Amino acid sequence: MQRFDRRLSLHDLLTQWIELIYPRIHCCGLCGGFTQGIQINHGLCPECYDRWARMYHSAEPCPRCGFFAGSGECRGPCKETGGSFAFIAAAAPYEGAYRQMLHSLKYNSDRSLAEPMGYMMAKTLAPRISSKQRRRYVLVPVPLHTAKEAERGFNQSLLLAEKLGRCLSLPVVQTLVRIHSGKTQASLNKRQRAREIGHIFTGTPDTLALKSRSVLLVDDVVTTGATLMACAEIFIKMGIDDLSAITFAAGFNHKRDDTMAKIK
Ligand SMILES: [Zn+2]
Ligand SMILES: [Zn+2]
Repeated sequence: MQRFDRRLSLHDLLTQWIELIYPRIHCCGLCGGFTQGIQINHGLCPECYDRWARMYHSAEPCPRCGFFAGSGECRGPCKETGGSFAFIAAAAPYEGAYRQMLHSLKYNSDRSLAEPMGYMMAKTLAPRISSKQRRRYVLVPVPLHTAKEAERGFNQSLLLAEKLGRCLSLPVVQTLVRIHSGKTQASLNKRQRAREIGHIFTGTPDTLALKSRSVLLVDDVVTTGATLMACAEIFIKMGIDDLSAITFAAGFNHKRDDTMAKIK
């Protein structure tokens, strides 16, 4: 079973040292509780961090699609995405406090939440990429349509990628552009979707420079996998097939009560 590395980074040690001298008040991004002084978990109180880590390990996320499937058969998008991605990993189920956290970032513009969310994503991702191969990886956030980004004021996937990149020292590049504001249709068959994809995303000329790299797509949530697949197929068309993905949230098996009990 995957365990998170509990060692402190140089940044964490420095933060602890500064906070010993100048203690500040922090608000936890998950429970909203206030703590004064040392808070090493990037916007999460120690209790919420421990609760999340316990939940993650006991909920047994699917190693292929990130879906919180429990120990039963995964009902996530494994079949649709399995051949295109080495793995899709997600930090939390799209449910309860984690779902609320994502909504507060996206719809209430609480950008400070990108810090704890990106930190949880970094803890989730770190065991999946060996430190030897880490230099090969590059983070590519899933883009919003320019009209949507202008309305919201930011792209949440880019904020998450930037925080994740800082935690793991990975570069962030924006080589995808969303040229259509419509939804990616999970209900379409492969041929229909391939026709649609050309109208939703495109790659900038810089995309070709990623041919020798491992591309890690970053998105806020994976449910049907259609958006990640639409992005993946842009890379595949350009001859880039070393792909994986990390999201903050993922769906879960509704019909398995034991999975739900572990999540709550
Ligand atoms: Zn908390
Ligand atoms: Zn799965």
